[in-house]
Amino acid sequence: MKFNTKAIHAGQKPEESSGAVMPPIFQTSTYAQEAPNVNRGYDYARVGNPTRTALERLIAGLEDAKYCACFSSGVGAIDAIMKTLKPGDHVISTNDLYGGTYRLFTQVFEPYGIEFSFVNMTRLEEVEGAIQPNTKLIWIETPTNPLLRIIDIKAVASFAKNHGALSAVDNTFASPYLQQPLNLGADIVMHSTTKYLGGHSDVIGGAVASSNEEFMEKIRFQVKTTGAVPGPMDCYLTLRGIKTLHIRMDRSVENTKKVVQFLNNHPDVDHVYYPGLPDHPQHELATRQMKDYGAMLSFGLKDDTIEKATRVMAATKIFTLAESLGGVESLISNPASMTHGSIPKEVREKAGLTDSLIRVSVGIEDEEDLVADLDQALTK
Ligand SMILES: *Cc1c(COP(=O)(O)O)cnc(C)c1O
Repeated sequence: MKFNTKAIHAGQKPEESSGAVMPPIFQTSTYAQEAPNVNRGYDYARVGNPTRTALERLIAGLEDAKYCACFSSGVGAIDAIMKTLKPGDHVISTNDLYGGTYRLFTQVFEPYGIEFSFVNMTRLEEVEGAIQPNTKLIWIETPTNPLLRIIDIKAVASFAKNHGALSAVDNTFASPYLQQPLNLGADIVMHSTTKYLGGHSDVIGGAVASSNEEFMEKIRFQVKTTGAVPGPMDCYLTLRGIKTLHIRMDRSVENTKKVVQFLNNHPDVDHVYYPGLPDHPQHELATRQMKDYGAMLSFGLKDDTIEKATRVMAATKIFTLAESLGGVESLISNPASMTHGSIPKEVREKAGLTDSLIRVSVGIEDEEDLVADLDQALTK
């Protein structure tokens, strides 16, 4: 089955009792048993729920994974992955990663005795230099946030394999439509389904998918034991969103290219960060690794101040000033004063994260309206 067909049908079948084409929202906490431990595959809804199962089968299909487990949030999914490790284990992580992931790694798991090395993962030498006998996991996030750098999944995953470590990819920014990490050799793929998979900014959720039986056994144990599980309504919303992932993504990417072209030629714009631009440092890698270049971009202003960025963002009428991404509506944010505000200015700027940097998640509105909105906002 090709991707667009899988987005609708993977792992889905009409509901048995009624023939309902969409899975019902099984709003229940428990299931009747015929005799102790004799049941129809479900005993208690922390462990499993048929609406959740339908969603898990769909995501597994999209990522070409044998198994998938869903969580109540993206960070809930990352938390479960990290709890498969033991104190004394070592993790190599990209240093350009989602702030919530960094906080979870350094403020929860480091105090619990897991060791981390954060490296610039666009340089394989840095990964090689950080490997230790106790390295158990390599954490990849690509494209990165907010500078849209690209990490070579195939190279890093193969390096991990040679050293007996697992590789995990946070695939939230690309979505499985544009990038399938397991097919590039990664062991684990993780999603914040809050973003492109849900796609409508109306639900929080997470997922872990893998074909590694032993690892997924540990994840299922975490689902049952630590219980960060999604409710059936949230599973339903996410499943409903996924069915249009491919057409939403195509439209968003098309719009993004128009916005990038406009910004790239604007006299007040200093630099546009987008892997689709030929001058992007990993443009060729992005072309090889991804089906297309995505719907996220960032740009810096010649007047490199938080004040100017704030004025531009306040002047947009269609782009909403908000964190998050991947919904049908276009969003705009300033990492220096919002998501990355807690990072000291010198550290930020060294990483290329300047004061005026504006991050954009491009939605599926009309492309001319989006360009016109940015045009009028930049002249304010
Ligand atoms: C949003 C996000 C997360 C966290 O997901 P939540 O659903 O907000 O918990 C993790 N990684 C990336 C890349 C994200 O954008």
